[in-house]
Amino acid sequence: MPKPGKLFVVSGPSGVGKGTICRLFTSKRPDVWMSVSCATRAPRPGEAEGVHYFFVSDAEFDRMIAEKGFLEYANVHGNRYGTPRSAVEKKLNEGFDVILEIDVQGANQAIERYPDIHGIFVLPPSREELLRRLIVRGSENAEQICRRLRNVPGELVRGESYPSLLLNDNKTAAAQRLGDIIDGRFETTARERALLQELERQFEAEPVTPESVEALIQKYRR
Ligand code: 5GP
Repeated sequence: MPKPGKLFVVSGPSGVGKGTICRLFTSKRPDVWMSVSCATRAPRPGEAEGVHYFFVSDAEFDRMIAEKGFLEYANVHGNRYGTPRSAVEKKLNEGFDVILEIDVQGANQAIERYPDIHGIFVLPPSREELLRRLIVRGSENAEQICRRLRNVPGELVRGESYPSLLLNDNKTAAAQRLGDIIDGRFETTARERALLQELERQFEAEPVTPESVEALIQKYRR
């Protein structure tokens, strides 16, 4: 029997690029497996069934909950997302390290259920850059962007309790640093802790409004 793998949860605000970093990293590390979640939202262009998500109906999601098929699940920005439990446990038992790339509510559930899990919280370089990334990816309308941005302050607060903070200033560098964290070669420094506090301050000082989102859409989607 192989030694069981280690479990990691990568979380952070919507649009920070956690999925991109995790996919970039796991594409180069066959010993680390990234869990594929179930989601009740529709696929975006370019998203594939079983690769980015298992796209399920509300009824299927309810059935999975009733069968205790989720390791965690949450309603995130109006859609439901959950981590299938059996696939994660199978991979851990086979000796793979496993990454869950999920929102802060689901991450909390996972941390409660698996005390040995290692939490990694991804930070944008600034408020402006997080807003820009959410807007230029173009997958949400103004109302959806506004809803996601309004949740950011609450998401950032949760970052304070994470043992590892990971700055996503550049996706290649961040994917490399994710590997360093997973391999135990990178400790979070006062620099990342100070950045988290600065981001919380920036979002508090300048709350997101529908008007400010419209103005940013005009600026970045021209
Ligand atoms: P998106 O719709 O942009 O793909 O994802 C929205 C949010 O849902 C992201 O913050 C993403 O990390 C989170 N998410 C994706 N899969 C899961 C999951 O299985 N459980 C939870 N709790 N959140 C998830």
